Amino acid sequence: MRKKVVAGNWKMNTTPAEGVELLKGVAALKGDVCSCVNFIVIPPFTHLSEIVKNAKGTGIAVGAQNCAAEAKGAYTGEVSAKMIASLGVEYVILGHSERREYYGETSATLNKKMVQAYENNLIPIYCVGEKLEERENGKYFDVVRAQIEEVVFNLTPEQFSKLIIAYEPVWAIGTGKTATAEQAQEIHAFIRKVLAEKFGDAAANTVILYGGSCKPSNAAELFAKEDVDGGLIGGAALVASDFIGIGKGF
Ligand code: PEP
Repeated sequence: MRKKVVAGNWKMNTTPAEGVELLKGVAALKGDVCSCVNFIVIPPFTHLSEIVKNAKGTGIAVGAQNCAAEAKGAYTGEVSAKMIASLGVEYVILGHSERREYYGETSATLNKKMVQAYENNLIPIYCVGEKLEERENGKYFDVVRAQIEEVVFNLTPEQFSKLIIAYEPVWAIGTGKTATAEQAQEIHAFIRKVLAEKFGDAAANTVILYGGSCKPSNAAELFAKEDVDGGLIGGAALVASDFIGIGKGF
């Protein structure tokens, strides 16, 4: 039985104080959702320390949105995986399409970030997904396969056993356009098949999240699909009742 996960990527939104209020809102409503759902909040770096403190005892886990590719040193503005982990953070998003697009993150960079994450016991939430033109010209299977082969295939079986994957079609992120449940299932099943080529039966246990304009009104249909194990949520994670509403999709 795979874990059910609803993770909220707050991106560059909220002040630390607003973030604590948002977390408290989620914690207050969490009792309305099946206890089988694992919630993760993923605020900006500046909030992590306070959010970890306030999340204690709520059952809500905390993640970071990124980490540095290097362990330490003269990398102005970067935040290392060790720094993040030292706060009690458990997860880190790697390879979000916004980082690939605006910050030039390549598979080479992401391989280094993966090493840092695992060395510091952070669980990566590795994002894959195609752009609109790649969906329209039918290249999306190749794009997603390459994103997996170039990074995930370099993991050891032990590392792989902890990994979470988020399939996020770029055309659905923040656009209000959601992949249909059938489109999500098709590619999630494909991802699992590709993972099985390298890791065999272990791929059956990999948590694969859907991300892209997921909201309370479409969560249940998406989560009902066999290979959709939850969601990585952007916009709707900024409103506690919406985030919780998505959790009710299970
Ligand atoms: C995201 O960026 O991870 C995301 C899924 O955003 P949204 O839910 O706003 O489409």
